[in-house]
Amino acid sequence: MGAPRDRLVRALDYLAEQNLLEVRAAGLRHPYRWLRRPADLEEIARSLHQRTLERESREIARLDQVLTLAAHDGCQTAFLAAHFGELLSHPCGHCSWCGNGGQPAKLFPATPVHLDEAPLRQAVSLWRQTPDLTQALAGPRAFTHFLTGLPSPRQTRGKLKTHPLFGTFAHVPFAEVLRRVEESPSSRRAIRTGTPGNAGVSPASSLLKKRSRTGNRDACAPKNCM
Ligand SMILES: [Zn+2]
Repeated sequence: MGAPRDRLVRALDYLAEQNLLEVRAAGLRHPYRWLRRPADLEEIARSLHQRTLERESREIARLDQVLTLAAHDGCQTAFLAAHFGELLSHPCGHCSWCGNGGQPAKLFPATPVHLDEAPLRQAVSLWRQTPDLTQALAGPRAFTHFLTGLPSPRQTRGKLKTHPLFGTFAHVPFAEVLRRVEESPSSRRAIRTGTPGNAGVSPASSLLKKRSRTGNRDACAPKNCM
């Protein structure tokens, strides 16, 4: 329009103040400029990855603390207060434990899950054989996120959330799937040689075809997250 940006902004603000326009910010982009180029990109990537892993562990620990508090056999308010360094002289009288006559809440025990070895082996094989999957899901942890239905930006970019294998093992705890993926012969071979695992046609292809045909996929709610 040829007019300076700040003049246009002032004009829009003025019209908004007069209730002639409703002005909302949309599609904002935050530009940035390099102040200093990092010397070692690999090191930064490693450090960021490590911080992500540590944060993941902390979040899991925090969830465990919530469960511990919920199942605590004692006044929960006193338990919380003690956490922050304050000792209550007597039970609060209004938390769940106090209100329940001094009985702790009974949490449902973790449901034992069964992980079928054959489908997992086939999934790992397929992962190693399919360049698109191998590229988008680099490493056992990324692949386990995919198998347990935990989305990530890379999966979104690769449109993998609609993949038949996405969330196949959503009913199994993340750590268990990760352990099995890491222990899978196909993974170990790939890690050792730095090349994809089984070559040629394998049962993995039939697994994908079968799942595609039936559209049978477990719910991908991240109920077993982490
Ligand atoms: Zn209490």
